Amino acid sequence: MDIKRNIETITAKVEAGGARLIAVSKTQPVARIKEAYDAGQRIFGENKVQEMVEKHPQLPSDISWHLIGHLQTNKVKLIVPFVSMIHAVDSDRLAEEINKQAARVGRVVDCLLQVHIAQEESKFGFAPNELIEWMSTEKVQALKNIAVRGLMGMATLTEDAAQVRKEFNGLRKLLEQVNQVSGLTMNELSMGMSSDYEIALEEGSTLVRVGTAIFGDRNNKQQ
Ligand SMILES: *Cc1c(COP(=O)(O)O)cnc(C)c1O
Repeated sequence: MDIKRNIETITAKVEAGGARLIAVSKTQPVARIKEAYDAGQRIFGENKVQEMVEKHPQLPSDISWHLIGHLQTNKVKLIVPFVSMIHAVDSDRLAEEINKQAARVGRVVDCLLQVHIAQEESKFGFAPNELIEWMSTEKVQALKNIAVRGLMGMATLTEDAAQVRKEFNGLRKLLEQVNQVSGLTMNELSMGMSSDYEIALEEGSTLVRVGTAIFGDRNNKQQ
């Protein structure tokens, strides 16, 4: 894989769509992340706390680290001092813990609320109705050390582009609804991965999370 060329090609498309590229560097060694950094990439996404905590001090300090995977409450304190954005907030308890730990270190941490939009079963993410209900309570708005910037979702893994488009479009509409009931003006939509980021951009994504299309197949250690 030519990491530099991939970064350049994908960044051009993402920026033309008015969004930002998150290079998903999970399982990638530091040297490959540095290659992407040298190609100009500054936002990296990891899905595991431990991995992010290990890589962060080994890489330049002007990198923005985004946690894109599920976060357990007992691990929040490990990333709150340096994380730029947490994408998968999906419960009251998690939001409160991020708020508490962020207050302890004097930060306001940007967060996204994860919504379950795919057809596959998942333990993670709010159901759309549940999210609207929760955001109407203004509980999150009261948490002063988190800033909720928008929503994150993963589409169904399918070749059916129309289905994927429908799910992304639904997430965008949900953002409008949640803004209405909450009085917030959130504007971030984290949607789109290697296989579907072009559709996501057309449906209003502002943050695409791309791994394989930059670094190659994560299972192929020969690359
Ligand atoms: C791994 C991962 C991605 C990137 O997936 P690719 O198909 O490699 O682009 C995006 N989002 C989340 C939440 C992930 O865990």
